Amino acid sequence: MAPSGSPGGPPSGSLALVIYCAFAVAEEAVSTGTSEDREVGIIFGTRPEVIKLFPVIEELRAAKGLRPVVIFTGQHRELASQAMEELGISPDFDLGLMEPNQQPWEFLARATTTISGLLSEGRLDFVLVQGDTTSTLAGALGAYYCKIPAGHVEAGLRTADKHSPFPEEMNRRLVSTIVDLHFAPTERARKNLLKEGVDESTVFVTGNTVVDALQRAMNLPGCEAALGNLPIGSGRLVVVTLHRRETFGEPLRGLLTALKEVLEERGDVEMVFPVHPNPEVKGNATKILGNVERVHLIDPLPYPAFLRLLNQSYMVVTDSGGIQEEAPVLGKPVVVVRQVTERGEAVEAGAAILAGTDGESLKAEVFRLLDDGTLHEQMGLRRSLFGDGRSAARIVAEVTRMVLEGSGGRDG
Ligand code: UDP
Repeated sequence: MAPSGSPGGPPSGSLALVIYCAFAVAEEAVSTGTSEDREVGIIFGTRPEVIKLFPVIEELRAAKGLRPVVIFTGQHRELASQAMEELGISPDFDLGLMEPNQQPWEFLARATTTISGLLSEGRLDFVLVQGDTTSTLAGALGAYYCKIPAGHVEAGLRTADKHSPFPEEMNRRLVSTIVDLHFAPTERARKNLLKEGVDESTVFVTGNTVVDALQRAMNLPGCEAALGNLPIGSGRLVVVTLHRRETFGEPLRGLLTALKEVLEERGDVEMVFPVHPNPEVKGNATKILGNVERVHLIDPLPYPAFLRLLNQSYMVVTDSGGIQEEAPVLGKPVVVVRQVTERGEAVEAGAAILAGTDGESLKAEVFRLLDDGTLHEQMGLRRSLFGDGRSAARIVAEVTRMVLEGSGGRDG
């Protein structure tokens, strides 16, 4: 299919050029399947979206009569590209929308404009977005403007604080008002949606596709080497990831200082910290932890390697959403460095502790877990809180019903 309005070459204007180039890439990429296959656009821009959508893309590839069309906004190019490469995903459309120091509203405007332009070509029958990023919101808006039915993977997570996580909590709430199908990972997420007035027949409790992703990625080869290069000693291994914008500034420096003090006061602890490339995180982590013994500041790991690292750990300290879901599957206690969490299931089940974002309380909770063997053992039970590894198949079954059978929900 040729890009409309560009029979003899690229159109003028930078936005038109982005769309033209994306189509040019897609011309070659979307060449498998039959011409009768209905096309499902998968729109994303960041690492967690790649990880949680990769099982859905695999299921769509295998589904009869459907074909995934992968649309990457470029929101977090470095981390998302690493994950895509590792998981065998190549975008059909790479929109390259991120610019240095772009504010969320600027990115939203650019992404919504470009995605709407792309979707207005009319080739897609359905659109899927995942989670809570600005790409998620832009994808849902683009589908809405072009009157394409859309589904939200990982729908219904809420913290009840519209500013935390920022802007993700608001992205989620807005997406729920736009899409046609809501794939809630848990019963709690379903209830959150119903409380907001979402039509019950459009909500499906599928489990979280992160469990599918974890199970599939643990079987991928090539991750032992990445860990083999790390000079990890025999101490108890604490895996650390921190990247949330709400803690940037003094709170983040306080948290990093607390981790330094943990290492100073517990000689048998080692830390591995795959450092997020955001300059605020990287700069402060290097300054505060760079010369501390028994801490390894490393580049972000490919997903399968990171899972191996988690699996070898004694515990995890993180502000990540996805890691709160993965750690209980592997039986690793989590200290959550946030004021509020939308994954309350893990805290209530006793698999995670909500430590807040203050250095002193983080230190206290880490010490509690390091020093209380019974607590560590109880928290470290393997738990299936977020899914059974078959979420992607359930989601694709519903998309199939809607796209191929014209059903608009459970009662449709
Ligand atoms: N992750 C990874 N490599 C790393 C650190 C994390 O692949 O070095 C994975 C992790 O397993 C999880 C996802 O990245 O699935 C979490 O991404 P992030 O913390 O950036 O986002 P969030 O989950 O908070 O939305």
